Amino acid sequence: MEDFDFENRIVAPQYVNNVDDSEFSLRPRALSEYIGQEQVKENLSIYIEAARARREPIDHVLLYGPPGLGKTTLAGIIAREMGVNIRITSGPAIKIPGDLVALLTGLEEGDVLFIDEIHRLPSTVEEVLYPAMEDNAIDFVFGKGAAARSIRLDVKPFTLIGATTRSGQLTAPLRDRFGVLLRLELYKVEELAEIVTRSAGILGIEIESDGAIEIASRSRGTPRIANRLLKRVRDIAQVRYDGVITEQVARDALDRFGIDELGLDEFDRKMLSAIINNYGGGPVGLDTLAAALGEEAVTVEDVYEPYLMQIGFLMRTARGRCVTPAAYNHLNIPVPGQQPIFGD
Ligand code: ADP
Repeated sequence: MEDFDFENRIVAPQYVNNVDDSEFSLRPRALSEYIGQEQVKENLSIYIEAARARREPIDHVLLYGPPGLGKTTLAGIIAREMGVNIRITSGPAIKIPGDLVALLTGLEEGDVLFIDEIHRLPSTVEEVLYPAMEDNAIDFVFGKGAAARSIRLDVKPFTLIGATTRSGQLTAPLRDRFGVLLRLELYKVEELAEIVTRSAGILGIEIESDGAIEIASRSRGTPRIANRLLKRVRDIAQVRYDGVITEQVARDALDRFGIDELGLDEFDRKMLSAIINNYGGGPVGLDTLAAALGEEAVTVEDVYEPYLMQIGFLMRTARGRCVTPAAYNHLNIPVPGQQPIFGD
């Protein structure tokens, strides 16, 4: 896999600097503009309405699901609908308890504190968060050993919105302190087509509905990827065609980028063929597979696998990962023990 350029993977769901910079302008600002995730929106609108009626901050919210599905966007919408400010940070950015204390004491009443990748908070920081979430207070210890002193600081009532890829990655005490747990699902093709059309409108890109569906069906259920592909396809549409994204233009552009009709790229195909060729189609343990691919197990599990599972190409079993006959067919590899199907 040495020849694969992970850094520049077009279908990577994580935020990439310089590539996804226009995301800010593409973010829906109201719940009514937020496409899909109907169940989540319905629940949230009830919580928001109830909290507003009580004139209280909304309960702490945990959003979980793969990257690029709209967790940061949703946090911004919640703050906006509640009419409060939002402070955005991430687990790895808060290194010591003092960093969190500074953030918490700087909040105005009712503000939203959004912590992305909240499962990566250091445990010493997490401990400061518990009383802040429960009692609007911080027990801050400074100094060490016999000289250590603890002071209690008040924090204004606030809403913590945490985001993580899987709720199971959080420690139980932290997870239990969230009143609202919302799971975001991969998007359907029609929803992504709507997102692509909306983004094209904002960016002034001319696109036909079949062109939007073509981009949507190769976006792996992920709005961030859909928006990124839209911008890349626009470049081809301008340079090679008359600027309009039709189905044909989208297909041509995406084929050039090595993204097939299901949104799989070279990495996915290599991962599936590695399981087939090296492990007889599975089962293969996650750690073994990750090592063979030169990736971290958690990345394989949270970033690469969800889409392959959603389209029914990969299964997680108690003994490890298995590739399904559908994946063999997609890769044109005969399914073991099955007569090859001869088609055109
Ligand atoms: P996450 O925080 O889950 O990684 P983001 O909230 O940053 O994802 O979303 C990535 C991009 O995808 C946003 O800039 C936004 O343009 C787009 N997006 C996400 N969800 C939606 C949605 N439901 N409707 C429209 N656009 C969306």
